[in-house]
Amino acid sequence: MSRIAVRTDRREQLVDITREVADAVATSRVAQGIAHVYSTHTTAGVTINENADPDVAHDLLSGLERLVPRSGGWRHAEGNSDAHLKATLVGAGVAVPIGEGHLLLGQWQGIYLCEFDGPRSRHVIVTVVGA
Ligand code: ZN
Repeated sequence: MSRIAVRTDRREQLVDITREVADAVATSRVAQGIAHVYSTHTTAGVTINENADPDVAHDLLSGLERLVPRSGGWRHAEGNSDAHLKATLVGAGVAVPIGEGHLLLGQWQGIYLCEFDGPRSRHVIVTVVGA
């Protein structure tokens, strides 16, 4: 198991952590199995999506903002209910298959930490399990 530290610098941001996850897989020396990537936060999640065109990450954030507006008459006194909802929509973790020691991501896929209430220091736990 390893921990990836991510410092975000905006309120909402997708941070590509594919390389860090791949490094954790390489360190584990597991040739075949699963890498589980997990956000330990309630206002940040993890997702897999396109990492070729940066406009996709932008559009994911703007689409989520349309679905879950920041001021939506929420009750939570902290004022970040939209961030909690967005984190739940993207989910806290993803599992990626490993083959021949490498993440079996599709050609256009990257793994992202999804920040919804930054800037903050975030942590992602990578658990590599052989199969
Ligand atoms: Zn809150």
